[in-house]
Amino acid sequence: MDIKTLENIDINLASISKINEVDFENLTFGNTFTDHMLICDYENGVWQKPVIQPYAPFTIDPSAKVFHYGQAIFEGMKAYKDERDDVWLFRPDQNFERFNKSATRMAMPEVPEDVFMGGLKRLLEIEKNWVKKGNGNSLYIRPFMIATGKGVVAAPAVFYRFMIILSPAKSYYSGEVKVLIAEHFSRAANGGIGAAKAAGNYSAQFYPTKLANEKGYQQIIWTDDATHTKLEEAGTMNVFFRINDTLYTAPTSERILDGITRKSIIELAKRENINVDVRPVLVDELIDAAKNGTLKEIFGAGTAAVINPIVGFSYKEDYFELPKIEKSFALDLKEKLTNIQYKVAEDTFGWTVKI
Ligand SMILES: *Cc1c(COP(=O)(O)O)cnc(C)c1O
Repeated sequence: MDIKTLENIDINLASISKINEVDFENLTFGNTFTDHMLICDYENGVWQKPVIQPYAPFTIDPSAKVFHYGQAIFEGMKAYKDERDDVWLFRPDQNFERFNKSATRMAMPEVPEDVFMGGLKRLLEIEKNWVKKGNGNSLYIRPFMIATGKGVVAAPAVFYRFMIILSPAKSYYSGEVKVLIAEHFSRAANGGIGAAKAAGNYSAQFYPTKLANEKGYQQIIWTDDATHTKLEEAGTMNVFFRINDTLYTAPTSERILDGITRKSIIELAKRENINVDVRPVLVDELIDAAKNGTLKEIFGAGTAAVINPIVGFSYKEDYFELPKIEKSFALDLKEKLTNIQYKVAEDTFGWTVKI
């Protein structure tokens, strides 16, 4: 896949760069942004000319629908730099496709490919010094769209703003993650917006996650809203379970986000001759496996952390600690996947795209 550079764009460069003020060794995730951002407005049915301009706050009308009805979607992707200083994206076509699926579900306009992909390429060409080599370094890419149309009438807006902002990131380490299996709260429901990367899915998680934090758990494993018997996602990540030497993960559905890390891990595991079973995984099965010693690993999968091992989980009144194991699938698959992303290992899948 080749990304075409967008020619029809206005570019106003910042007069000075902030890059020398940034301590790249001590970044907290998602707090530092590069010098420029991309903006493209949608007005009365037409996408306007995109512009790249200095990163800065902007004004919107207080009645804009994003504030009142939460019409907001986003994506999360990363740019990596290899040893030859080339910058690479990982399966960006998948983010683009998913973004427009989210847009459709939220009654927002689809963003044209030349704006999303071509605009991102232009932006990354300008900000390439912000992509650092090695050591889990990357540039986190946050494309998003908000409804900017005025008026508190509860109807979709006719004015939208698509933007891309960029944030340098270190490898993501969240400490030991213990999770609580949800018995009451839900992240998503059938017929809802769980399969869209919609802002509202995240705000809905904050309160139950806060309660879990107070009990000493970092994340929640979400279960299906109807019966709370099926294991679905871990926090804002897809989730895998290793029972004996088989990896299990739920099929994507209206309630489960179609994660790019998830599907890449499935393909990678199959290539490594690891048995992968994509089917609903029951809470009862997990408890049984934990009790009889066949549960070896649980891990979350998503762009920010790639793979995040979980050390224990709680269900009702019981806490189950996972065993320390010699050959972890999580660590092995993480290394193999990041080696592809950083161009250290050959990309036999054709997942990496050069900027
Ligand atoms: C973004 C996201 C993921 C992970 O998707 P990736 O494409 O792997 O980054 C998983 N679950 C939810 C709810 C998400 O929002």
